[in-house]
Amino acid sequence: MIVILKKDPDQRQLDSLKAWLKAKGIDVHESTGIHQTILGLIGDTTTIDINLLNALEIVEDVKRVQEPYKKCNRKFHPEDTVIKVGDTQVGGGTLTMIAGPCAVESEEQIVSIAKLVKASGATMLRGGAFKPRTSPYSFQGMREEGIRLLEIAKAETGLPIVTEIMDASQLDCFENVDVIQVGARNMQNFELLKVLGKTDKPILLKRGLANNYQEFLMSAEYIMAGGNEKVILCERGIRTFETYTRNTLDIALVPSMKQLSHLPVIIDPSHAAGKYALVPSLSYAAVAAGADGLIIEVHCDPEHALSDGPQSLKPKLYDEVAAKCRSIHAVVNGGAV
Ligand code: PEP
Ligand code: MN
Repeated sequence: MIVILKKDPDQRQLDSLKAWLKAKGIDVHESTGIHQTILGLIGDTTTIDINLLNALEIVEDVKRVQEPYKKCNRKFHPEDTVIKVGDTQVGGGTLTMIAGPCAVESEEQIVSIAKLVKASGATMLRGGAFKPRTSPYSFQGMREEGIRLLEIAKAETGLPIVTEIMDASQLDCFENVDVIQVGARNMQNFELLKVLGKTDKPILLKRGLANNYQEFLMSAEYIMAGGNEKVILCERGIRTFETYTRNTLDIALVPSMKQLSHLPVIIDPSHAAGKYALVPSLSYAAVAAGADGLIIEVHCDPEHALSDGPQSLKPKLYDEVAAKCRSIHAVVNGGAV
């Protein structure tokens, strides 16, 4: 971090700033020029509040030369993180295939989809129980009962279950949930992230609708700072001026996150596309770009789905998409097709 001081800074204030930094374990390198004095701060500056420094009377400007996130930063953790979930794992060269309906609607619905996606090679089952809907008049999910039905589907198929939490007060229902999803709308619900940081469950963190890479990583950092390092990053499309697709899938996030972070990265082509016919191509692009997995919405009767029917694949198409994704993954990882 570099602190540029105002011309002729008050010596007493400067001494007290340097003493404060030293007490925080930061080495201060001072270089005095004719017009300006610059302080180079060496050490772990992640806990230094840049706004606090900027507000000091003697400070002209402050620049970070290092990222403000540490635990999720590849610089401090060069190896890829691999997260164990039941008998499967996320990252480490595997292709995680999470599939299932947008929302759990009934026991028959979730169990039948679970069996079908499992037969197509899915490694985990998704299904929303607490649903964040834009309209309060839309189906809000089956809530606790939805989680109970997911547990039944898990018992019948052995698939680990992934479902979204919307509020910390719901955490008790998640005891038998294998991966807790934080939806795009909650990516910056910092109080929720802090609570999840105190659990030992893997967290599937979705990128917010209009958040940049640094903000996304800072949210992962919130969870990790609490002690839970099992975070899976998920790109699900962002808001742009385009309206043809529901969101714009940012494929560049995959190689970017691989550079910036050691956390596994998965793609949700369903919420990006908003249209089922686009989901296959976006899935292939994601795997080709090096994603560690996909989370895809699947429904046996999309026309009558209680949420996100238009973007849901029927099981037969999911089966084709999953097989082709595995072939692409083998090629990307240097194996034979
Ligand atoms: C979902 O996965 O059903 C969901 C609501 O996703 P997102 O938070 O990405 O909109
Ligand atoms: Mn959905």
